[in-house]
Amino acid sequence: MKPFSRDTWVEVDLNAIRANVETFRGHLPKSTGIMAVVKADGYGHGAVHVAREALASGADSLAVAMLDEAVILRTAGIDAPILVLGYTPADSVETASRLNVELTAYSTEWIVSANQRLEQAELRPVGVHVKTDTGMGRLGVRTTADLLEVVAALENSAKLEWTGIFTHFACADEPDTTHVRGQHEMFQSFLQALREQGKKLPKVHCCNTAAAIAFPDWGYDTIRLGIGLYGLYPSPYMKERADVRLVPALSLKTKIAHVKTAVEPFTVSYGATYTAKPGERIATLPIGYADGYSRLLSNRGEVLYNGSRYQVVGRVCMDQIMVRLEPGLGQVDEEVVLYGKQGNEEISLDEVAALLGTINYEVPCMLNYRIPRVYV
Ligand code: PLP
Repeated sequence: MKPFSRDTWVEVDLNAIRANVETFRGHLPKSTGIMAVVKADGYGHGAVHVAREALASGADSLAVAMLDEAVILRTAGIDAPILVLGYTPADSVETASRLNVELTAYSTEWIVSANQRLEQAELRPVGVHVKTDTGMGRLGVRTTADLLEVVAALENSAKLEWTGIFTHFACADEPDTTHVRGQHEMFQSFLQALREQGKKLPKVHCCNTAAAIAFPDWGYDTIRLGIGLYGLYPSPYMKERADVRLVPALSLKTKIAHVKTAVEPFTVSYGATYTAKPGERIATLPIGYADGYSRLLSNRGEVLYNGSRYQVVGRVCMDQIMVRLEPGLGQVDEEVVLYGKQGNEEISLDEVAALLGTINYEVPCMLNYRIPRVYV
């Protein structure tokens, strides 16, 4: 019996995940590890499957944005080190201890509160990476004084262990390297200040995909590999540079649910924004904006059928779209590719992102729980 009845699915090529990890392994110094970033359900690809494949291919740890995502990985039996990159409310620190998940900290108040909770509950210590804000303006300490205070607070906390220090780059994917170099210099000055205080540095990391591609010698103890793991480039500029060759892992596929030939002209979908002309074949596909196939693709998106491109006509509905095929083509149950390759044609996530006026990161993240994931 099929595990799902729906004829729309995301196909994730785990060989592509493997190839991408191996590509970064070859691009980086041997001493630099790979932390596979599988937040947001593995950028929509499925965190558990991607994590397992990444770990089997040379990644040595995992990162997520929030503790609940780490719980999913642990519940699936994954026992590799996991770091939560974002904020964790101090009242959730017990969960992190029980599941042996590392957290991110940047404030003394949080450290004191988290430590107290763990002491009261008599739980195991939690590993903590200190986040420095060197130019992202998001989470993290911004001054050496604050950094030293936070590190001292950690060292005074019996139930917290200082296991890492990191920063995150804002502009590593751009041709102008002024901002990223400035951030890296500030990060280096933080590390230097710690050394001057006689501190032994824990795990040091700063590179996302873009920085790992452009500055592999800034890898330190590990990179945090997100978008590149999935075979996508962080920006069109990074793709042009082509220092590393990546293989996209995700395809979005469906099957024709209905097809009709216009004998008389008829209008298609809400708002009647498209009129089929006599002779045109209009196929209905079972996917819509409630799946994360954006309504902004109305009358603009394209699909692959029979190895060629065909246009979405009319508005994208909640659960269905219509496409215009050539006369004589289209049978119920025939496969249509919405994202990915068919024959020699490809609709890349970059292309869809450009149509939507967004970045490729967002496109797979939009594909939600309604669409089953199939791993090949
Ligand atoms: N590190 C942090 C703190 C992040 O927030 C992210 C993702 O946004 C990453 C690493 C991975 O970045 P990328 O997907 O560009 O490799």
